Amino acid sequence: MFKIGCHVSVAGGYEAMGKDALYAGGNTFQYFTRNPRGSKSKTPSPEDVAALRRLMEEHGFSAPLAHAPYTYNPCAKDEHIRKYTADTMAEELRFLENLPGSLYNFHPGCHVGQGTEAGIVMIADMLNAIVTPAQSTTVLLETMAGKGTEIGGKFEELRAILDLLRPEIADKVGVCLDTCHIHDGGYDIAGDTDAVVAEFDRVIGLSRLHAIHLNDSKNPLGAHKDRHEKIGDGNLTADGIKRIINHPLLKEKPFYLETPCDLDGYAAEIALLKSWREDV
Ligand code: FE
Ligand code: FE
Ligand code: ZN
Repeated sequence: MFKIGCHVSVAGGYEAMGKDALYAGGNTFQYFTRNPRGSKSKTPSPEDVAALRRLMEEHGFSAPLAHAPYTYNPCAKDEHIRKYTADTMAEELRFLENLPGSLYNFHPGCHVGQGTEAGIVMIADMLNAIVTPAQSTTVLLETMAGKGTEIGGKFEELRAILDLLRPEIADKVGVCLDTCHIHDGGYDIAGDTDAVVAEFDRVIGLSRLHAIHLNDSKNPLGAHKDRHEKIGDGNLTADGIKRIINHPLLKEKPFYLETPCDLDGYAAEIALLKSWREDV
């Protein structure tokens, strides 16, 4: 089954996100746990969350992907930012048990000069402190473009974080592969899909891959930039995107669009992607 969804706004409530996903032709969706630039969030009503659960069940949705705000930094130099990040993420993970089986994605963070190795230890320490063996949510480290002091631009950096996790929580932490980010990071996922998938499997393991952010890129391979483009309009090209969504080792994973689109734009992209899939 083609699991495909787009980024939707949480502003109208939880059930509204499910309705937006259906409107766009999706069977899953991604949303920010709170306004990406701010830090205020209002707690949704239990009725609203229950209504979303009913909608997802009725329409056979695949797990929704909650994306942590960009303001979090698990490997900040400033201890207060690290503590704020850990406390807020722990709170969000507790809330997500209201939507059992969720995925929760975050950017590993920027080490801001402390060095990659120190950053990797801080990220693992935070996960070891906040992820519990009993939770139903899978927490995902996102592959990054490697701009500035970002951690996660190389598969090996994510592997190093996973290797530092307590064994009891190892199956609660995985990876979300962002096609724009890794392309910008120098992995030719669009042009040489087989080789990059094999490299991901060798370094991280495909069993740790729980979600794919499906984006085209405005920048050339290895630009270390991170500017998303609409599907088929960027350097990944339509043919590259076709290879990715039909790849035998990727096609069963859920795909989430984060292209620069409004809801009607997403509906058009999802329709286009369905027409490119070899099994629908
Ligand atoms: Fe992201
Ligand atoms: Fe992404
Ligand atoms: Zn991005």
